[in-house]
Amino acid sequence: MKVEINGNILEFKKGDITTVQADAIVNAANGTLLGGGGVDGAIHRAAGKELLQECKRIREEQLHGEELPSGDAVMTKGYNLPADYVIHTVGPVWEGGEHKEAERLSNCYKNSLALMREHQLQHIAFPSISTGAYRFPIELAAAVAIETVVEYLKKERVGKVTFVLFSEEDKEIYQTTYENIYG
Ligand code: ADP
Repeated sequence: MKVEINGNILEFKKGDITTVQADAIVNAANGTLLGGGGVDGAIHRAAGKELLQECKRIREEQLHGEELPSGDAVMTKGYNLPADYVIHTVGPVWEGGEHKEAERLSNCYKNSLALMREHQLQHIAFPSISTGAYRFPIELAAAVAIETVVEYLKKERVGKVTFVLFSEEDKEIYQTTYENIYG
């Protein structure tokens, strides 16, 4: 499904984000930036070991050894990926909903879009952040993701945003959520 918002394109696709030829793909990373399971592992495997080296440099130089806090985002090159860049953001772990999970998830999308604009990228692809190992209920995560992206696109002309969902079921949930809010 594809819609136009203020001269931008928003689309929902089923697929593997490591094969997407966008200017940047977003990684649902963990705070260590050292890779992990799920989409994070897939991105590191496909990008090659230079990605891990750049992530380690960011940990040392930009973050002074600290972990990247949830909601924040940093950018690296894409190395062997078809995408030019990877934006690494750390989603919140779902802890019942009263630990600012929705706000922190929204910040993941906001900060990734801010990096997109800052670097004048025209196409960014997001996975469904936090809805795997981090257990954020997908219906709620989809609403936060979509509202954050749509409100941003209403204000800014950047280009194209693609949600790349890993299953047909997840894609249906995102599309239905969009229709329920904006349809
Ligand atoms: P988190 O720790 O933020 O929950 P996960 O990687 O565990 O991150 O899961 C986030 C979402 O990414 C899940 O919906 C999962 O199915 C999906 N996912 C896993 N691998 C890929 C991939 N290669 N491309 C796109 N989405 C993926």
